[in-house]
Amino acid sequence: MSVDKTGIALLPSSLDKLLPISVPCSCGRTHQVETRWAEIQKGALENLPDRIKELGSNLKVVLVVDARTMQIAGQRTSELLASASHKTEICQLPDKAGGRPHADEENLNLAFSVMENADLAVAVGSGTCNDIAKLSSFKRSIPYCVVATAPSMNGYTSSIAAIMKNGVKRTIECHGPLGVIADPEILAKAPTELIAAGLGDLESKPTATSDYRLAGLIRGDYYCPAPEKVVLEAEQKVADAAQSIGSGDPEGISLLTEALLLSGLSMKLAGSSSPASGGEHLISHFWDMTAPLEGRVEGWHGAQVGVTTIVTSTLYEFLRKLDPSSLDIESMVDSRPDLNDMRSTIGEVHGPLAEEVFVQFKQKHLDKAGYRKELEFIVNNFQSLWDKVDDILRPAHVVKSILKSANAPVDIHQLGLTPKHLETGLLHAREIRSRFTVLDLAAELGVLKPMADKIIHASGCLGSLS
Ligand SMILES: [Zn+2]
Ligand SMILES: [Zn+2]
Repeated sequence: MSVDKTGIALLPSSLDKLLPISVPCSCGRTHQVETRWAEIQKGALENLPDRIKELGSNLKVVLVVDARTMQIAGQRTSELLASASHKTEICQLPDKAGGRPHADEENLNLAFSVMENADLAVAVGSGTCNDIAKLSSFKRSIPYCVVATAPSMNGYTSSIAAIMKNGVKRTIECHGPLGVIADPEILAKAPTELIAAGLGDLESKPTATSDYRLAGLIRGDYYCPAPEKVVLEAEQKVADAAQSIGSGDPEGISLLTEALLLSGLSMKLAGSSSPASGGEHLISHFWDMTAPLEGRVEGWHGAQVGVTTIVTSTLYEFLRKLDPSSLDIESMVDSRPDLNDMRSTIGEVHGPLAEEVFVQFKQKHLDKAGYRKELEFIVNNFQSLWDKVDDILRPAHVVKSILKSANAPVDIHQLGLTPKHLETGLLHAREIRSRFTVLDLAAELGVLKPMADKIIHASGCLGSLS
């Protein structure tokens, strides 16, 4: 496998060539994918028994389904496995608030117990079924495959599972699937809001990657250009085909599915969700965390992320226009809230979740000397920082028009949220995770709070209230 002249891995951007792969890289990491196959084609489900032959015969297979995915593909999966002489057991996750199952510890324990003595787990579904099957099979040390039923998120090929724990959404490192079955005809029948959500999640790529780059440049966090390249080409094709994706055209759905699988692989290759999850994701996670406290039902991840990407793209536009020479570093260092101030702010905003949130936030809080040093670095390198993200960022209005052409939500009204949710999310979502994002950059530059109102209005994400 080739590397460039600095030793950075040159990774292929086609699914076939990435499955599986292991490439040492000068970033210090061996970029690895263990997933062996992905089938995106009509009739792909029929090939599942052949695909799992290598695991042996007479396997005990646990299918993780919900009431809807059982009908869509679970029944057929079970028949196919039975005709190949495997013993199948169904683990159906019960519907909860919002009429769907949740990725929580209760379901995790349920799947874990059904998987006792199992040889293989098969998730039939999308977000929740996949996360629960992925993490519980990992805890049982057995492989898992996934039969995708909606092109709604990029978690199929990632090796992390997002689970709600003690009221806080956490991503837990586990394992990737052995393989993925994605039949475009099944996926095209998914509810249109789920297809739009998949596109919304993918359109966060520009801001998420930009945050990933800035965290490397400003904080020295791990960064490698190889993983992000894997998905860029596919994401552009999706942006160009947004309209056909929105109308459920199977060819567009195949493009979207492939890009989502590549997006998941980019996280696997990077060893973290950073290339695909920045400040826009934190705002969406924050809304998910506050949903049960407010008696609200969690919205679709990708639908929320599409809207928050418009918001953070707008934030980027504001930050870029700042005049660094106008920043008075000494007075900023003196007036910045210290860790005690932040503890009480977090207590007020996050209520019962404050302790969990504070544990995350304090990991990225700099002391005064560190803060001064960081501000000096940003001010002295202001233009060159923007030069490093220019090739990836999209103007907010372009993000919005891509989402609109696929009939994806573009404002909080369409998400069932209020202006207050948007304001609190923009100001405080950064507190929930230790990761440095553009939200932290804006806070460190002292502009997040003073500019929040202007950013929200300029984003147009208040809908008719804008
Ligand atoms: Zn690397
Ligand atoms: Zn996402």
